[in-house]
Order: sequence, then C-alpha cells, then structure tokens
Amino acid sequence: MSFRITYSVLDADLSQLHAEFDKALSAVRGKLGAEHPSFISGEPWRGGDLLDSRNPANQELLGRFHRTPLSEVDRVVRVSREAQQKWGATPWQERARILKRAADLISERRMELAAIMTLEVGKTRLESLGDVEESADLLRYYAGQLEEAQGFVKPLARLSPKEDTRSVLRPYGVFVVISPFNFPLALAAGMSAGVLLGGNTVILKPSEETPWCAEGLYQALHDAGLPPGVFQLVHGEGESLGAALVSHPGIDGVNFTGSQPVGMEIHRRLTAQSVRPCFLELGGKNPAIVCRDADLEAAIEGCYRSAFGLSGQKCSALSRIYVHEDLKRDFIAGLAEKARATRATDPSLASAYLGPVINDASVKRFERAVAEARQGGTVHAGGGRPQLDGALAQGHFVEATVVEVPHGHRLMRDELFLPFVGVASFRTLDEALHMANDCIYGLTAGIFSRKPEDVEAFMDRAEAGVLYANRRTGATTGAWPGVQSFCGWKASGGSGKGGCGPYYVSQFMREQSQTRMG
Ligand code: NAD
Repeated sequence: MSFRITYSVLDADLSQLHAEFDKALSAVRGKLGAEHPSFISGEPWRGGDLLDSRNPANQELLGRFHRTPLSEVDRVVRVSREAQQKWGATPWQERARILKRAADLISERRMELAAIMTLEVGKTRLESLGDVEESADLLRYYAGQLEEAQGFVKPLARLSPKEDTRSVLRPYGVFVVISPFNFPLALAAGMSAGVLLGGNTVILKPSEETPWCAEGLYQALHDAGLPPGVFQLVHGEGESLGAALVSHPGIDGVNFTGSQPVGMEIHRRLTAQSVRPCFLELGGKNPAIVCRDADLEAAIEGCYRSAFGLSGQKCSALSRIYVHEDLKRDFIAGLAEKARATRATDPSLASAYLGPVINDASVKRFERAVAEARQGGTVHAGGGRPQLDGALAQGHFVEATVVEVPHGHRLMRDELFLPFVGVASFRTLDEALHMANDCIYGLTAGIFSRKPEDVEAFMDRAEAGVLYANRRTGATTGAWPGVQSFCGWKASGGSGKGGCGPYYVSQFMREQSQTRMG
C-alpha cells in the first residue's frame, strides 16, 4: 500500500488497497464461526459460556467467545499484580521497544484486522483501515513519549551541595481498561499502551460487541514479546464482568472510554472504596456553526462527512448544526440531497459509505428520534429504514437523516450515536456560540467562516476539547495521534489530557520525589 489511510482521506487511487482488502476479507471469512478463548496469564482460557459476535449487516455468526466467569476475576487480578512486579521494574527502553514492535505487527496485519473490523462493527473499509493505522500510530507515538522523557526521571534543584533529588514517575500497578465498540482496536490499543508504557499491567475488557477485534490486539502484543500476564484479555458484558473488575479491591485504576452514564457508574464504583485514578473519556453532542459567509460547498461536505461517517457512531460525530438564517435554506437543501443520495449497504463492499448501526437498541433509538423529530420539527432527509435484499434484510440499517428542530429540543441535547443530525438557525455569532456551548458535553466542535475574527472568537469561546475551522474533510471528526489531542471537556471527559496528545502516557504514572544525601 503506497500511502497511509487516515480518517481524512478524500480522493486517491485505491484500487490496490481494495484488492488487498478483498483478499484479506476472503481469508477472514474462512474463519467464521470459530470458538475463541479469553487470555489469562499468557494462556488461552476456555470453559466459560459463549458470547456470540455477529455481523450487524446481516447477523451472520462471526465467532463464539468464551466469557470469563466472575469466579475467575480474583485469579485474573492476582496474575496481573504478580506480573506487574517485573513489568514495572523492566527498563523503560524495553517497554518502549516491545510496544513499538507490536505497532509494526499491527501495521503488517492491517488488512486482516481491518477485514475483521468491517465484519464485526459494520465499518466501511476506509474507516476500518483508518482505525488499524491509528492503533499502530498510537503505540508508536506513546512509546516515543516515554523515550523523549527518558523514562520520566527528572533532576530537581538542590538545597545543599550534598543533596541529590530527582522526580521519578512510577507505575500505579494494575489497571482495568474498558473499551467501547466503535473504535474497537484504536481505543483498546491506545488506552492499553498508555497504561503499559507507564509500567502498569492491563486487564482489558473490550465491548461485548467487538471481542474479535480485541483478540487482534492481544495477538500483536503477545507476538511482540510482552511477558505473560502483563496484558490479559477477558470477555463478558459490562454490567457483570466490567462491574466486577471495577469493584475489585486489587486493582489500582481504571482507563475507560465509553458512554457518559457508564463512565459515571464506573467512577462511583471505583472511588467508593478508596482514592484511585479513574480516567474517563465519554460521549459528545458535537456542534458545527455555519456562518453567513461560509464556503457553502465545503460546509456541506464537512458536515456530511462528520454526521454520517461510521453511521454517526463516532464520539466526535456531528450531531448539531447551527446555520446562519440567510444560508439555512441552501445549506439544508444541499445536505439533505447528499444524505438522500447515500444508500446504506453492506459495508464490506468497496463502494459502501453508510453501513449498519451496531445493534437493535440503536435501531430503536433511531425510530424514537425520528418520531420525535416529526412531532417537534421537520424531517428533511431520511427518517426510515432502507429495504435491503437477501441477508442484508436482517441488518441494522437506518437512513442518513437530517432534521430541523429548535435548539431546545431533546434531539439537540442527548447523544444519539446514529446517522442523524439536527439543524437550527442563528442570527449572530454570539447566539450561535451560546447554543453550541449550551450542552453538558464538550468533546469536539467546528466552524465554517471566511472571517478570521469569527474563527478566532470560536477558538476562544467554544467549550470543547477539539476544535476545527473550515475543515472540509470533517467538520468535527478525524483526530489523529500526534496531530489532534483528543480531550473531552465538561461531561465528555475527566482527565484533562487527551488521547492522541503529548501528555498522555505520564497520566498513568504517579510522581515520587527521591532525595539522596552524598
Ligand atoms: P458503552 O458505555 O455502552 O460501553 C463501553 C464499555 O463499557 C463496554 O465495554 C461495556 O461492556 C462496558 N460497560 C457497560 N456497562 C458497564 C458497567 N456497569 N461497568 C463496567 N463496564 C461497563 O459505550 P459503547 O456503546 O460501547 O460506545 C459508545 C459510547 O462511547 C458513546 O457514548 C461514545 O461517545 C463514547 N466514546 C467516547 C470516546 C471518547 O474518546 N470520548 C471515543 C469513543 C466512544
């Protein structure tokens, strides 16, 4: 493959890439229906009830995963504690080397990993390849942080010539990492890498929707030479296994990405017993402001890509648009036309742009949202379920939907996580900024304006961690490691330092000051 796939690729000759993907897809299809273990103490573990992973596009069985029963949780935590003693004492250069080796293995295996992801999540090829490339880049970028900081040992000032003091960042111990379904490799890989590079061990509980993608991460880390027990992979539902892990007194912290209510629940559980670090990156309700003098075509393209890419299931997805009232008619007409022209289809096809949503609960959420939009506003495009033939008739497909509702409507407030975008109008930039900020969430936001002073006002006043101006490749989406730090503000996150950003790894270490007298 001659160039890297990111989430911002627009036009390129992708014929070779499609040929490689097709080959990998048919190889992966040959493995469907197999049983897969959990991985405990460096060994495959079988013997639990089976968790079925199914393709959201057609319900085909992808694999059957051995759930890790609650009776195994004590052992998993004990193994992790024991492994941490050695891993925490492993020189930082070696930790970085292993993680960089794992990044190379992920890159080498990108086609197979992306094919699995397309089947398991319903992502299009380019979205899946972007996720895999991002995973590898996250590992490299975070390993680089450890190297740049020389293991986070820093000489401090002396109060006397005989004194030698240094600040040393040291591991906390055992972390539970819990990941969501939508970036099943990048988020599991990024969160785990930060924790591991800090000298901690990881118990990963991935989303029950995407156990196969998580296994790809396990294999890459294992094959890169990570010692047994340092990274364990357990399978099961969040409410049972996830809750049991988070409640366990033997863990030292949690690194979580997922929805806001689940994050709050985890925080309550973890901190009920003692003070322990709890890193939360949560949901969003991301706005874009389209000013009167905006490049209309760029604004429509950027909003379209961010609202409907990955079927609106990105935490950074655009779900609220505030457009100047003079531009409203043309903007809505252009966006609705593109949405209507977007046919939901099998995401494994080279031509697909809109795949399915993840599960039946998402379809029900869509149907309720459409009914509310019809009652409280106007549905300009979509609103239904496409009629698809054959096995795809069993898939979780919904139409790309554009609605116009007032700013105060529930649909402009609650995260829907669907290909569903609400539009409202404004008269002044002050009003637009007020509406954009009038939300519990603060993850990403965008503006389209030709006036530098409007862009600067937006950069100064928008209450979100990731801001974009005039971004045709994605009004609110498309962050990349080392390029855009991804930090949730307000109810969107609690760490204050973003994934993909330069301060990530040091968060998973605690500071110790060491003074030695000569
Ligand atoms: P989710 O919150 O439903 O599940 C996330 C994970 O938490 C899963 O592994 C699940 O099994 C587990 N879980 C559920 N209940 C639990 C409990 N009581 N205790 C412990 N673990 C539990 O999220 P999802 O549907 O998988 O993903 C979508 C959500 O994630 C959206 O809200 C999206 O905005 C958010 N997200 C945020 C970011 C970010 O960087 N801020 C990135 C991706 C996704």
